[in-house]
Amino acid sequence: MSKKDYYEVLGVEKNASEDEIKKAYRKLAMKYHPDRNQGNKEAEVKFKEINEAHEVLRDPKKRAAYDQFGYDGLNQGTGSYTNADFGDLGDIFGDVFENIFTGGGRRQQAKRGPRRGADLRYNMEITFKEAAFGVKKQIKVPRLEHCDVCKGTGAKKGSAPKTCPVCQGSGQVRQSQGFFSISRTCGNCHGSGQVITNPCSKCSGKGKIRKVRKISTEIPGGVNDGSRLRVVGEGEAGDYGGPSGDLYVVIFVQADDYFERHGSDILCEVPISFAQAALGAEIEVKTLEGHVKMKIPPGTQTHTIFRLKGKGFPHLHHPGKGDQHVRVIVTTPTKLSEKQRNHIKEFAELSGEDTSTMGKTLLKRFKDAISG
Ligand SMILES: [Zn+2]
Ligand SMILES: [Zn+2]
Repeated sequence: MSKKDYYEVLGVEKNASEDEIKKAYRKLAMKYHPDRNQGNKEAEVKFKEINEAHEVLRDPKKRAAYDQFGYDGLNQGTGSYTNADFGDLGDIFGDVFENIFTGGGRRQQAKRGPRRGADLRYNMEITFKEAAFGVKKQIKVPRLEHCDVCKGTGAKKGSAPKTCPVCQGSGQVRQSQGFFSISRTCGNCHGSGQVITNPCSKCSGKGKIRKVRKISTEIPGGVNDGSRLRVVGEGEAGDYGGPSGDLYVVIFVQADDYFERHGSDILCEVPISFAQAALGAEIEVKTLEGHVKMKIPPGTQTHTIFRLKGKGFPHLHHPGKGDQHVRVIVTTPTKLSEKQRNHIKEFAELSGEDTSTMGKTLLKRFKDAISG
């Protein structure tokens, strides 16, 4: 655990507002996010620090405790702030399929009875086009599964777990300290109420083994960068008959050189010539599904945006598609032949412009200069 000042970590003042803290956190979390800094240990540490600091400063109670007592102030509570790997990513990425981090998921203190398995996260990078059309991908997920030899009991075949002799199966032991009597988790069975005397040789009595499981996922068209896809029950196995956790596939969408995405809409820029802009024309425009023809009306100004209806991304939560916006850029020719130059000059004269300073080549300017 780092012992850096949380305000310093986020680069905010001691009296920063909640909003300032949130903004600073987002900026840093994006910068040091492990998916953008693969294999970078320094970024990893930084990311953890940022999350830890944010986890405390975002919570008025924890922040007040920290302000008053420093780190010691924080250890009074349940200490859940250390479990901050995910931090507040839902906040950063905005659009999510389901907000997972408000419930379940987090491991509670050991207690008897069924316990849900841990949720897993898998980062998946997909191309811009895959995000537009959706994609099916098989992923390999390492996870804890119930041991197939002992069926998750941890006991060797033919034997069974025994009731813990220390707590008589309650999972809790009572301790008396003067007037007080407190209950705590039994150290012998770790709260399970059972002990394995003859452990399964495959899982060494743990009841679980790590396996790499292939899981098919279907990413719907229209997903956003940072969207989370929940695959129910594909997380780690639960304990004592508890259900499995869930698998969350976090989507990272690659940027495209040509298209820029704005929600379900996409934007691209297409150069057109002055003649096309002035006279009107039909041009070819690249879309996600190949090329289409688009009409440019006569007298089109540069940077005019045309809309190709329904050529964008599918909407994620309702039927239909966004649009493609095409911004035309009228380009000025840079290399002109003598003939072209004369015609443009003539055109300018016809438009009533003063052409006396137009269209002189360097050589002509030079000649004018020495003769004049
Ligand atoms: Zn086993
Ligand atoms: Zn026990």
